[in-house]
Amino acid sequence: MTSKKIVLHFPSQAVDQPIVYRLVKDFDLQFNILKASVTPKEEGLMVLELTGKKENFDRGIAYLESCGVKIQPLSRDVTRNEGKCTHCGVCVPICPTGALVVDPETRKVLFENKNCIACELCVKICPPRAMEVRF
Ligand code: SF4
Ligand code: SF4
Repeated sequence: MTSKKIVLHFPSQAVDQPIVYRLVKDFDLQFNILKASVTPKEEGLMVLELTGKKENFDRGIAYLESCGVKIQPLSRDVTRNEGKCTHCGVCVPICPTGALVVDPETRKVLFENKNCIACELCVKICPPRAMEVRF
């Protein structure tokens, strides 16, 4: 039996399709959705724990990739280098889980690590490279 937490990045053309349902029906896999941010006609992001026989798991992953879904293991950790962050707010609208939010009183950008799914969208966009990936 294999069980892994993975991050799925759905391209816009795959968002409306019953891709995750087919993991159950065609590959006999069980899934537990931990977080999801899917908007029709736009790119989607889902974090799930996928469980099943190793052979079925591998076939299910190959099926996802054939649908254009990008898969990333949830084994990395994203942290913020507090000394580098300028609280510019660029990262706030792109964070799919609300892990980066503006404090309404101080106007500082807060990083709620417990909500972070390590999708790394903020890592690429942060001007001073304050968001860092730990392996
Ligand atoms: S984009 Fe970078 S510098 Fe700007 S608020 Fe976010 S983490 Fe801080
Ligand atoms: S990696 Fe960045 S954008 Fe992605 S969930 Fe974590 S804080 Fe938000």
